[in-house]
Amino acid sequence: MRKTDALDLIYRPWALRAGRLLARGEDLRESFSLILEEFYNRLRQAIETGDPAWMDQIVEAWVDAYTQTDIDRREFGPLSLVHQIQSMTLEVCRENLSDQDALDLIGALIPIFAHASERTSRLLLDRSIEHIAWDLEKANEALARLDKSKSNFIAIAAHELKTPLTLIEGYAAMLADQFPNGDAAADARIILKGVDNGARRLREIVNDMIDVSLIDNQLLSLNFQPVWLNRLLEILKQEYSAVIAERHQKLEIHPFQGWNEMIFADNERLYQAFRNLVSNAVKYTPDGGRVAIDGRQLPGFIEVTVSDTGIGISPDDQARIFDKFGNLGNVSLHSSGKTKFKGGGPGLGLSITRGIIEAHGGSIWAESPGCDEAACPGSTFHVLLPMRREPPDRRSARLFADLTGQPDLTQPSPVEPATVGSLLTPE
Ligand code: ADP
Repeated sequence: MRKTDALDLIYRPWALRAGRLLARGEDLRESFSLILEEFYNRLRQAIETGDPAWMDQIVEAWVDAYTQTDIDRREFGPLSLVHQIQSMTLEVCRENLSDQDALDLIGALIPIFAHASERTSRLLLDRSIEHIAWDLEKANEALARLDKSKSNFIAIAAHELKTPLTLIEGYAAMLADQFPNGDAAADARIILKGVDNGARRLREIVNDMIDVSLIDNQLLSLNFQPVWLNRLLEILKQEYSAVIAERHQKLEIHPFQGWNEMIFADNERLYQAFRNLVSNAVKYTPDGGRVAIDGRQLPGFIEVTVSDTGIGISPDDQARIFDKFGNLGNVSLHSSGKTKFKGGGPGLGLSITRGIIEAHGGSIWAESPGCDEAACPGSTFHVLLPMRREPPDRRSARLFADLTGQPDLTQPSPVEPATVGSLLTPE
């Protein structure tokens, strides 16, 4: 018997069994009979042509009708539907056909059902991936919105704090003028010094908040000028000498190749970046510890490392600490002291440092065997800076033409090169 004739022969018992097996309610029965009819017709076409792709359209329609909620609830899905129809069809073949006809038809049906199963699984997988990607996109959008509102909050808070802070600073200064140097006013001067210290720390925090919002909004503009890292680091060492002595620590600066060469960078911003790194190294290193600055020259870059013998940073946190508010410390440990052991802070320093280094076209990362307050494995911060031999903008290029040895002959220099040169020559 022809396989399609054998299939026609089993149509009635097949449709009856399929309807009973699959339709779980009265309402469903009618729509199922249409679906089953279509399924049957496609199965017939597939047998006749030998092309299982005839089943594609119907399984696609089943997968399309299957919602994500069904998937989440693990409801009776299209794949299970295909499998159930398959085993039911094979059973009906065995029960209603001669052995030979059943064998022939089953032999033709198996590859068709295998194709339908494979196609259904692939479609379901694609559907799940699409759904997960959509979920991820939504989550990313929500995170971006959250980050934006965090950023807006910082900008507004910094702006709002600036005015009262200026008032406190101004009135404290006016009050200080009322007390000439003399023993009688000593108490008042101590109190005013306290107000002044508090206001200065608050000013630093407000400035950090402003820097973070500048970086977040890509508005940090750099003022490129000649920089000698050796001088910058020496000044930093001088600034920290009192704190280092107070904490019984050692701050070592090791000369390295390229450190005394002129590069173009934003002097103040670079100083601020290294200052944050040294400040953290001091802060997260116990009394008696060591902070070392070293580096090396690489093709086109200079790498500076700031390492310490402090508490270290766990591998998971090594990337997170560069995010704003990425501080890991206990909030109760936050103090107004910037150098006290584990003093904590607003958690903006490293985010600003990364913003500054990246604005220079460089990169920064941290390395540490882990965080252990007893063993103190230490941390190393690596800063990779492009060795820019010329300023990136035309205006500065003209201004420093004498130093870079690349005079712009088409434009008159607005500043006497000899004066600029003599001012900026390294020691
Ligand atoms: P904070 O104001 O908290 O110091 P930072 O952005 O400067 O903020 O640093 C973020 C966090 O990174 C810190 O809270 C600290 O947990 C960790 N961290 C930074 N530098 C070091 C370091 N040298 N050793 C150990 N942990 C560090």
